[in-house]
Amino acid sequence: MISTVLVDMHMTTSDRGTILVVVAHPDDETLGAGGTIRKHVEAGIPVDVHCMTGNETRNEELKAACGVLGVRSLYLSERDDFAVSMDLNKEVVGAILKSRPRAIITHSPVDYNRNHRICADIVREAAEWASHVTVFEDAHRVDNIYQMEINSLLPHPNVMVDISGTYDSALAALSEHRSQTGKAGSFYAKLYDARTRLRGVQAMTDRAEAFMVAPLEHAGPFYRKNSVETLI
Ligand SMILES: [Zn+2]
Repeated sequence: MISTVLVDMHMTTSDRGTILVVVAHPDDETLGAGGTIRKHVEAGIPVDVHCMTGNETRNEELKAACGVLGVRSLYLSERDDFAVSMDLNKEVVGAILKSRPRAIITHSPVDYNRNHRICADIVREAAEWASHVTVFEDAHRVDNIYQMEINSLLPHPNVMVDISGTYDSALAALSEHRSQTGKAGSFYAKLYDARTRLRGVQAMTDRAEAFMVAPLEHAGPFYRKNSVETLI
């Protein structure tokens, strides 16, 4: 039986809004955005994480990693790694309506991993759906979706977050994913090291994480704030 469990880890709120991180697998949150999550938490901005798959072992690792990163609420699932399909849309809508994030961080549609690509599609649809005032009394509109990179590098990132000050915390979080970190000669730690250095060079800093901004789509007259007087 599939279940999604909400674990409240830190009770915080912020005038600057919250961030919801939606990932396919435990460890994606840290590999793609660990330094960015920790940086925002240290700035007083609550960050929630929704993970679409998991099992007993990997969920324990995810809880520990998210504890290191200072995540506020964690939405856990018990589902096979490859069971990411579009019918998870409702769960993500539910997470959006509960977390009410200003920004979502998720996977990129340009990713070798099919589950990551499907997750990116689910989030795009769920963010649009959650903002329908004709469907939800508590409809919520997300401002931006930030798409992250894991193994496949983003070809044209347009936002770099300086994580020089939080890289060590992200690495500590990554080490909590014990069932994964020993794979292929510590591949994931090496990848995270090399990629954040590369992005750091591009951002003229020590270490950075890269994102693509994907503005929310709006298909019709079902939303608040989708009409503006002027563009600037
Ligand atoms: Zn993954």
